[in-house]
Amino acid sequence: MPHVPPDVPAEGDSVRPRAPRATEPVVLALDVGGTSVKGAVVDAAGIVARRSAPTGGGPTDPDGATDAVLGVVRELWAAVPAERHVAAVGIVTPGLVDEDAGVVVGAENLGWRDLPLRALVEEATGVPVGFGHDARAAGLAEWRLGAGRGAGDHAFLAVGTGIAAALVLGGRVFPGGGWAGEIGHGGATTGDLCACGGRGCVETYGSASGIARQYTARTGTVPDGARGVLERAQAGDRVAAEVWQHGVDGLADLVSGLVRTLGLRTVVVGGGLVLAGNALLDPLDRAVRARLTVHPVPELRTARLGAEAGTFGAALLAWQASGRPVPSDLGIAA
Ligand SMILES: [Zn+2]
Repeated sequence: MPHVPPDVPAEGDSVRPRAPRATEPVVLALDVGGTSVKGAVVDAAGIVARRSAPTGGGPTDPDGATDAVLGVVRELWAAVPAERHVAAVGIVTPGLVDEDAGVVVGAENLGWRDLPLRALVEEATGVPVGFGHDARAAGLAEWRLGAGRGAGDHAFLAVGTGIAAALVLGGRVFPGGGWAGEIGHGGATTGDLCACGGRGCVETYGSASGIARQYTARTGTVPDGARGVLERAQAGDRVAAEVWQHGVDGLADLVSGLVRTLGLRTVVVGGGLVLAGNALLDPLDRAVRARLTVHPVPELRTARLGAEAGTFGAALLAWQASGRPVPSDLGIAA
């Protein structure tokens, strides 16, 4: 078990500076990524302070990432304004996550396996901890605060380094035991080798990193990420246009599959690739239409919260864990 930072106040600890419930509450929200742990102090009106740290850790150093998380919790705690108290902490992580048990079942890049992260942070802080998967939490945030507002059953599709979806069904984000929405992997048996060990996964050619890698494989040139491939395509580079379209087609396979299975009328598209705007959404809409026959074509919406979606999702999970009413907008204008 990793060490607990000594200066995080614990339950009943005499150093706890402020008594609960006597002051306005805040929550601490942490979004654990592959390279950094992003944290924020959040009150009902929005983010009041931010702290972050390199994630560290890895397959040979599982405590490194855990220490980084606890370090950011400590820094956030110290950044809480004097007239406030911490009602709860919310943490979202990548990997295979069992939200009910509060356990990261596996996050290879961080070296985490069967890590009871929720219990660790509850022990270190003495406050309730909300816990979830990063993409599902981002979908929760887009649903409650962003582009998914007002939509019924729908999906949030995150396309960045990887591909994952959050399924909002029956008034909740459906967890599927941690597996729901892991749609970037599987579904093919031939094609490029994927990090998951399979072949031809959409992640190998439809993610932002996959699009860049495909262009390099065909041309020997390293573009400036997926954005670089798009710029080359728009400048008339035929190979770049083919690589971009191939990626769009893979995403359209995923979207149309969700629509055919679940009858969804709305899909919110987020993650880094959505920065391409209409250069992504327009061809994706055409490709989805081409793949649907009897089903209604879903409305594709661009995500609103960008890279903040995970942090806001963690904040919402924290408010839920606190037992207090969840603020309706966290400062984000409808
Ligand atoms: Zn894969």
